[in-house]
Amino acid sequence: MRPHLLNPLFAAVTSLSGVGPKQDKLLRTLLKREDAPRLLDLLLHLPTHIIDRRARPAIRDAVAGTIVTLDVTVERHRPPENPRSPFLVYAGDGTGIVVLTFFRLHKGHVEKLLPIGERRIVSGLLQIFNGTPQIVHPDHVLEPEALGKLTLVEPVYRLTEGLAAGALRRAIAQALEELPDLPEWIPPKLLEQHHFPSFTEAMRRIHQPREPADIEPDQRYRARLAFDELLAGQLALALIRTKLRQPAGTRNAGDGHLRNRIIDALPYALTPSQATATHQIVEDLQQPLRMLRLLQGDVGSGKTVVALLSVAGVAETGKQAALMAPTEILARQHLRTIAPLAAHAGLRVAILTSRETGGERGQILGDLAAGRIDLLIGTHALIQHDVQFRGLGLAIIDEQHRFGVRERLALAAKGDGVDVLVLSATPIPRTLALTSFGDIDISELRDKPPGRQAIDTRAIPYRRLEEVVDAVGRGLQAGRQIYWITARVEDTDSEEFEDVTPAPARFEVLRQRFGEKVGLVHGQMKATDKDAAMERFARGDTRLLVATTVVEVGTDVPDATIMVIENAERFGLAQLHQLRGRIGRGTQASTCLLLYPESLSETARARLKVILHSNDGFEIAEQDLRLRGSGDLTRMRQSGLPGYHIACADLHADLIAQAHDEAAAIVRGNPRLKGSEGEALRSLLYLHDRSEVTGLLDPG
Ligand code: ADP
Ligand code: MG
Repeated sequence: MRPHLLNPLFAAVTSLSGVGPKQDKLLRTLLKREDAPRLLDLLLHLPTHIIDRRARPAIRDAVAGTIVTLDVTVERHRPPENPRSPFLVYAGDGTGIVVLTFFRLHKGHVEKLLPIGERRIVSGLLQIFNGTPQIVHPDHVLEPEALGKLTLVEPVYRLTEGLAAGALRRAIAQALEELPDLPEWIPPKLLEQHHFPSFTEAMRRIHQPREPADIEPDQRYRARLAFDELLAGQLALALIRTKLRQPAGTRNAGDGHLRNRIIDALPYALTPSQATATHQIVEDLQQPLRMLRLLQGDVGSGKTVVALLSVAGVAETGKQAALMAPTEILARQHLRTIAPLAAHAGLRVAILTSRETGGERGQILGDLAAGRIDLLIGTHALIQHDVQFRGLGLAIIDEQHRFGVRERLALAAKGDGVDVLVLSATPIPRTLALTSFGDIDISELRDKPPGRQAIDTRAIPYRRLEEVVDAVGRGLQAGRQIYWITARVEDTDSEEFEDVTPAPARFEVLRQRFGEKVGLVHGQMKATDKDAAMERFARGDTRLLVATTVVEVGTDVPDATIMVIENAERFGLAQLHQLRGRIGRGTQASTCLLLYPESLSETARARLKVILHSNDGFEIAEQDLRLRGSGDLTRMRQSGLPGYHIACADLHADLIAQAHDEAAAIVRGNPRLKGSEGEALRSLLYLHDRSEVTGLLDPG
């Protein structure tokens, strides 16, 4: 149950004055909420920067290019000569004259705002135009008595199209009024060490800063909220871990006879790291404690065979295994690669997705319950309640970051003492692993199977698009298969996507040039159409596939040797590396072309450089983390910790470790979160959206 003190924060934003259905919809978009946004969501929407209006110079001393707040008397008006020229207001303070410039503003309005002979406070960006100080559209014009109402240190928030800054600020101000005083969940020692304010004080100060520094990520207000968020995350993970790590009392790996049969049948030898990882996993399986292990390795590093060997180990004891993939395409691909190898050991493999229905589904469920299936591969369909195993011993979750905690737990809950193996093709540094998984054991595949061709990666500016299309044409003529990746699907009006060509539009263009050879796949297509499009490409019926990131994970078409990525600057580094991993899978040399716009920020350039120069996912992950290390709030937003909004990996690295230790101490001392301390911690879990784990706290 949610502590009732929190109720005001969980009220819908529509309960605020001035927030109607229209604002509600805008806030849903802004705050990325599927359900009705709450006051809490507003409060967690922290400012991205500050406008400092404290400088109040005389006009003579005002510095061009800075925000100033001036105390002036209006001297004269100059109405526009034609509708396109501005209305000018001349005002002075005895030291000089400033011109206040208004475009497309009703004359009467300006006259009322700035009557001749009256004193006014005006605040805005000062510029020098033809030698005269000027403010175009001052942000604020006030009567002198109202100066006290002017926010001199003004927080600025990320907005969404249609939402006015003022409306959002007023809503947040109202939400602040509803902040209850909450019991403290951080122990006194840590509060002292970091000089943390209370939760309520931190919230107030960040939304109503007194100094620009108040909102900085390394200052105590934001750091407090970051610690809260990290502690909530670590506590949730620790609770799950405790649940999972309870002694299983069973041993889930046998004598090795099935594993050996598979190894003997492989057309290649295991790489040293594949052998080590397999060994580590089998050791875990043989322990009476549950396994919780992450197997990470670059695309193409050969995780599948390690997973299969783990399955074989489990099958040696007569137990079953499940492999859950995030998409239908990936599940089918796993089936295709695993089935022939599994056959060597007599393992029975089946697939269950939303496509298996009716009698077919009934048959699969029957076989599963009777123990006639050793490995069930599938999608989310695996966690439906009527999917029952005779004895599930191992749950393997592929491309884990796409699944939530609930789904992970649901699969592991389908047996007693189920061991859990997570596969990830996005290598993550240790701090990130800690925030995403808590204490998880990690196996890494750092060496690649022999004989891989390096991918020749090049960055090309947009103005050379035609050359790229010509090169694609030559590639097609030479019989090569090609991916063309775009950064989005739909046409939107959003400015954010102004210069990004949507996949269907790019498809049309390329199709006009290359005809029937061109295919299209994106996330907004029906699942069956998507699969069909992938199939056609995999069979080679289509040769050029225009796609969004749906091809990111796992897709395996060995003949594809060219990839073009449009708007490469819009993808994360890990994502680019993942995408690029779709080529270079066969024996032929591969080429990856990154198209980018001329105007690139310095960080964007540095990021592209990383991709150009490295082909090692582990190194790329580390560089990525390093490039985030600027403490810049806007940059932090686009590249924080996955699943975290306030905390970020580099600035709060020490907090991550402390939150982790604190969570471990809590779970040792008060695993059911009882008493007043427990109540405070439950509040924390609700505030940071980790309340799903409170279900684990009840006995049984
Ligand atoms: P991942 O899932 O890690 O991206 P896969 O398991 O799909 O990689 O393996 C990629 C390819 O490498 C597959 O075609 C697989 O057969 C091959 N492979 C795996 N291990 C080895 C190895 N030790 N030597 C040679 N080829 C291998
Ligand atoms: Mg794979």
